Amino acid sequence: MAETTGISWTDHTFNPWWGCTKIAPGCDNCYAATLDQRTGGNYWDLKQAPRRTNPSNWNKVQTWNHKAESQGVRRKVFCGSMMDWCDKDAPAGARDDLFALIRNTPWLDWQLLTKRATLIERCLPSDWGEGYPNVWLGVTVENPEFGYPRIEALQRIPAEVKFLSAEPLLARLDGFASRLGGINWVIIGGESGPGHRTMKSEWAEDAVAQCRRVAVPIWFKQWGGNGPEKGGSIINGIEIKEWPRTDYLYANSSSKLPASTAESPDSI
Ligand code: SF4
Repeated sequence: MAETTGISWTDHTFNPWWGCTKIAPGCDNCYAATLDQRTGGNYWDLKQAPRRTNPSNWNKVQTWNHKAESQGVRRKVFCGSMMDWCDKDAPAGARDDLFALIRNTPWLDWQLLTKRATLIERCLPSDWGEGYPNVWLGVTVENPEFGYPRIEALQRIPAEVKFLSAEPLLARLDGFASRLGGINWVIIGGESGPGHRTMKSEWAEDAVAQCRRVAVPIWFKQWGGNGPEKGGSIINGIEIKEWPRTDYLYANSSSKLPASTAESPDSI
């Protein structure tokens, strides 16, 4: 399904910049930091400041949008796999340009996920209003201690679609169901790669059961581990791959998007 990404719950991955800083237990085995090191980069933990990706990388997003429009099929874009869009150390101007790009690509649904939930509000553009119809806002919930305050921060912010990524799930999510007010979608998954921390089956099953109790759609991504299949995505004998309901958003999505006021990244 994913054309340019290995992440099962999206179609494309876009990184407006490259580099991040570890801030939480969910970051301990950050695959992006490992990839950065393996590819000779030095952009983690501020050894070097995050760097903006090149214009050709930005330009390809417009290509995705044109293709989606010509096919009449909306596509999802995860932003991003090598950065956090709420990073306070983002390259100057890059976040403004990201939102200009988002406004200019109404056929793309942008999945903006962060671990810096308290910074979301100040990172949103001034014309955010009740939320753009093509932006899904999400936070990571690796355990109750770090994840639940992030959910509360997300719940305070208007957005058309709000989602949680319980990946890597590192603990049992006691009382999760009661915290899902206004949440449209939950991703659940275990950690993969060298040194991965095991997701206990009872944690995953309990998280699924709690989402079911309050009728929140679930994407069960993987059990985690080292193999190429990353433990697979079958839980209790079934594959759970559900989407949030979004059809009502797109009747006139172009006209609902605010007019672009910022310079397009294409022209930079
Ligand atoms: S926030 Fe995400 S990209 Fe940044 S260090 Fe943590 S896991 Fe890695």
